[in-house]
Amino acid sequence: MVPLTDFLLDASLRDDFPLLAQDVHPGQPLVFLDNAASSQRPRQVIDAIVHCYEHDYANVHRGIHVLSERSTDAYELARRKTQAFLAAEHAHEVIFTAGTTAGINTVARSWGDANVHAGDELLLTPMEHHSNLVPWFQLAERTGAVIRHMPMSDDGVLQLDRLDEVLTERTKLVAFTAVSNTLGTINPVEALCRRARAVGAVSLVDAAQSAPHLTTNVQQMGCDFLVFSGHKLCGPSGVGVLYGRETLLETMPPFLGGGSMINRVYDDRFTPADLPAKFEAGTPPIAGAIGLGAALDYLTAIGLERIAAHEHTLVERAWSGLSQIAGIRLLGPAPGGSDDPCRAGLVSFVLDRPHAHDIAQLLDRRGIAVRAGHHCTQPLHDRMGIAASTRASFYLYNTPAEVDLLIAALGEVRERFR
Ligand code: PLP
Repeated sequence: MVPLTDFLLDASLRDDFPLLAQDVHPGQPLVFLDNAASSQRPRQVIDAIVHCYEHDYANVHRGIHVLSERSTDAYELARRKTQAFLAAEHAHEVIFTAGTTAGINTVARSWGDANVHAGDELLLTPMEHHSNLVPWFQLAERTGAVIRHMPMSDDGVLQLDRLDEVLTERTKLVAFTAVSNTLGTINPVEALCRRARAVGAVSLVDAAQSAPHLTTNVQQMGCDFLVFSGHKLCGPSGVGVLYGRETLLETMPPFLGGGSMINRVYDDRFTPADLPAKFEAGTPPIAGAIGLGAALDYLTAIGLERIAAHEHTLVERAWSGLSQIAGIRLLGPAPGGSDDPCRAGLVSFVLDRPHAHDIAQLLDRRGIAVRAGHHCTQPLHDRMGIAASTRASFYLYNTPAEVDLLIAALGEVRERFR
């Protein structure tokens, strides 16, 4: 059992997560620090999914029978919960997708193919996940558009004072992550969306790493699109959300074709359905959306601000402890430094030896789950002159004692490879 001293949230919440209470090796309790890749689920979410399959499951929207009505009601309730979570103006601005990647690809194919032309510019940042790079590279290949990158300081903070160098009237899209999954940088979302709008560009916020940890308000952010995944915020995998501003979604052609997304099908043509069905072709992730709704309820009841404050104490503790280890290089802006609050609850690092993968393997022997590799940010790793890094990422159920275990275990690993 991991001691719960200095735990900022209600310590009993760990009991909500059945998976956490296990030894992953004999006598080695699990210390799960791989939350940026995927989080764990509380009993409340698991119960909501089980309840759906045991009592209320049928296909949604089409059935004229009681189960289909119940299933449809639960699915649409999840949409309204998501609307509230995002502070979106309309429920039909919430499109259920398979996840962040699917959401970005939908925008690139639908909005992108209809609006981007040769010579137009797509502005990205050097810290994007491959999911927020490759779909735009593909769009550029299809259209002849040009990819540009925002300036960034060496410690991984976007340089807004140099934005005019790359943001011009040629810019059609500004797509950026709200929180870097490798550096932990929290980007100035509102300012970036405002600057994009000022040149007539559309903004897309990749909220995969922010929605689980920070309050999201799409109207305050002023974004045109925002995407996130259920599995990173205590929800199920296989479901995610694309938020789009109503006026944009209305003008966009559907991306995937099939059932549900049509109003009427003729011999050789179709008319699309209204929002949000236009973008939800085929049978949607019904139980996934219901589980996602339960996850949003769970996080909202605890409070995103409290979760963020808790994670900040963990990352400060990790940063100060890890920085004492000989030969370590910590990536991204320091927490509590002049860039504060630019730092989310994860820390990536490289040791002069051993290699990131060996570190992860040795930590695993102590029951500590971290991630090693390029974290789907290869261009960022290239820029930092490294092939791989190790990442410890925290969530609401992690404890200061777990951070201390990481620091101690890593210190021993480094000693062994002196
Ligand atoms: N964007 C960021 C910043 C991420 O961290 C991730 C996942 O790690 C993704 C996008 C892709 O999310 P998914 O694999 O759920 O589509």
